[in-house]
Amino acid sequence: MSVDIAEKAVDFILSQKSFLENDSVDFEFIGGEPTLEMDLIDHICDYLKVEMFRLDHPWFNMYRVGFTTNGLTYHTDKVQSFIEKNRKHLDITITIDGTSRKHNINRVYPNGSGSYNDVVKNIPKWIEQFPSCSTKVTVSSEDIPFIKESVIHLFELGIPGIHINVVFENVWKDGDDRLFEQQLIDIADYIIDNNRYTQECSFFSEYIGKPIPLSKNNNWCGAGHMLSVDAAGNLYPCTRFAQYSLRSKKALVIGNIKDGINQNLLRPFLALDRTTQSPQKCLECEVASGCAWCQGENYDSAQTDTIYQRSTAICLMHKARVRANNYYWNKLYRKLEVEGRREEYEQNKREVKSEIC
Ligand code: SF4
Repeated sequence: MSVDIAEKAVDFILSQKSFLENDSVDFEFIGGEPTLEMDLIDHICDYLKVEMFRLDHPWFNMYRVGFTTNGLTYHTDKVQSFIEKNRKHLDITITIDGTSRKHNINRVYPNGSGSYNDVVKNIPKWIEQFPSCSTKVTVSSEDIPFIKESVIHLFELGIPGIHINVVFENVWKDGDDRLFEQQLIDIADYIIDNNRYTQECSFFSEYIGKPIPLSKNNNWCGAGHMLSVDAAGNLYPCTRFAQYSLRSKKALVIGNIKDGINQNLLRPFLALDRTTQSPQKCLECEVASGCAWCQGENYDSAQTDTIYQRSTAICLMHKARVRANNYYWNKLYRKLEVEGRREEYEQNKREVKSEIC
C-alpha cells in the first residue's frame, strides 16, 4: 500500500459518520508479515493520531492498533521503537504453532530451515510487554496429532492465553473428529492434573455446547459492520472477501476510498443473522453454542454467489470439541469439590468477570 492510499483510507474512515455509532475504533494491519512494513505502519499511526486530534474526533484516545506477526523481527530496534511509541494503544500477537517439530513444518525460511528458534527467543519479551497477550493456533486435519504437544508447549512458555480454532474449510477426513476429541481430552487431563486451569485455553469454555434459543439471533462475526481496505483502496466487508482470500468466488468489493461504499452491495450483510443463513439442523442443534462460521468461507463454499448459505464443514469437529469440553468441566469440578476448592474457584471467576465487565 502506498502512503497516499494509506492516508486517504484513514481520511475516508474518519469521515464516515455512520461508523461513529461505535465508541471506538480498531485498526488492524494484515500482511503478509506486517513488520516488513514497519515504517509505513508507523507513518499511518502518526497520521491517524494527528488527524484525530486535528478533527477533534470522538475516537481520539479511543482507538487501538494491532497486528499479528510471525515474531522474527520482534526484537529489532524498528519494531521495539514502534512498540515504545504506541504501547498504550497497541495489541500485538505473535504466532507460534507449538513445539519446534510442529512449528517448523510450515514456518520455514526460503532455504527451508525452520524459524522456531528465532521466534521462541522473542516470546519472553513479548509476554513482558503485553502481559495479557495470547497466541492463535489454527488447526487443520494434518495438525491433529500435534495438538496436545503444541498446547502443552505453549502453556509451558507461559503464554497467558491460547486461542485455538479449527479451519472452516472442508478439509476433514473420516475419523478426524475422534482423533481431535482424544487430543482435547489429553489436554484436559494435562491442564487439570497440573493445576493450570487459570491459564486460558479457548478449547474449553462453559458457554459452548448448549442449544441456542431463537431469540439469540446474532451473526457470528462483524462482516458488514467493519471495513477492510486493500492496497489499491478497494473496500470489502472483511478481508476474507478480497480475491487473495477466495478459492472459487470473485472478490466482493463494496466500494473504494474515492467513491465511498455502495450501500446496495453492503445491504445484504446488514440483514445477516443466525437464522437467515443456517440450515434447520443448526437451528435445532442441541450443542449449537460456540459452533462458529466464517462469512467469507460461507460465500466461497456456497453453490451460488450468496452469503446466506452457512457452511457446516466443522460440524463433527464442533461436536467432538463439545464432548471433550464436557469431560473437562466434569473432571475439573469433581477435582475442585474433592479438594474443597470449588467455592474459591467460583469466587475468582466472579471477580474476573466483574473486572472484564
Ligand atoms: S454445524 Fe453441526 S454442531 Fe454446528 S450448529 Fe450446525 S448442527 Fe450443530
